[in-house]
Amino acid sequence: MSNSNRLRIAIQKSGRLSKDCQALLKQLGVKLNLREQRLIAHSTNMPIDVLRVRDDDIPGLVMDGVCDLGIVGENVLEEAQAERLRNEQCAEVNKLAKLDFGFCRLALAWPQELGQQDKDWFNGKRIATTYPEILKQYLKRENIDASVVMLTGSVEVAPRAGLADAICDLVSTGATLEANGLMQGDTILESNACLIQNAALTDQSKLALIDKLMPRLKGVKQAKE
Ligand code: ATP
Ligand code: ZN
Repeated sequence: MSNSNRLRIAIQKSGRLSKDCQALLKQLGVKLNLREQRLIAHSTNMPIDVLRVRDDDIPGLVMDGVCDLGIVGENVLEEAQAERLRNEQCAEVNKLAKLDFGFCRLALAWPQELGQQDKDWFNGKRIATTYPEILKQYLKRENIDASVVMLTGSVEVAPRAGLADAICDLVSTGATLEANGLMQGDTILESNACLIQNAALTDQSKLALIDKLMPRLKGVKQAKE
């Protein structure tokens, strides 16, 4: 468990969620002294420390209580939860809010030259993805007998490289798929960034601070609507 009496919030260090996370903290009134290369940023006006890490580490840090709060994509959260449950580790978190950034979807795609395909086509095929647990759950649900090839990056080049027949990857505009000659199929998961809290958090002063921040978060969301 976190032994600091300051509220620890994990956010992505650099990537698609970082700017929005920093802007959100600012809108919540959390003043930060962000130095580019530092792992931890201390708030100058609230008992809050912000940890800047890879997004993949955020669910585990919150589940294990190393951080009290985290901001992460639901895609990364769901994958981490499924993987932890498989390994009989604690996978519980409280989802406090869905945030209005980081929109994307996890979708199937295959080479355009194959034309439109239905679900049966995937039987016996290899599908490359960074989200093997979410994909396996989908395949099971849909009764598709395909194999899963785990890749941590460059998933979109897998068919061209002969590593897989199809992919299951994150899409926002579809431009990357198009640039790689891929055609988009079923959406497996719709995702956006969310705010999560360690499920075992009992520290009263931290809970009180979260209670103070939540109405502000609601206010920020309403102001944007
Ligand atoms: P890290 O170095 O932190 O591991 P990353 O390369 O895994 O970063 P990013 O590409 O920065 O991650 O994406 C972070 C999150 O942003 C994704 O997990 C997803 O929730 C969201 N996202 C929104 N749109 C997209 C998109 N078009 N492609 C990928 N992720 C997207
Ligand atoms: Zn990542």
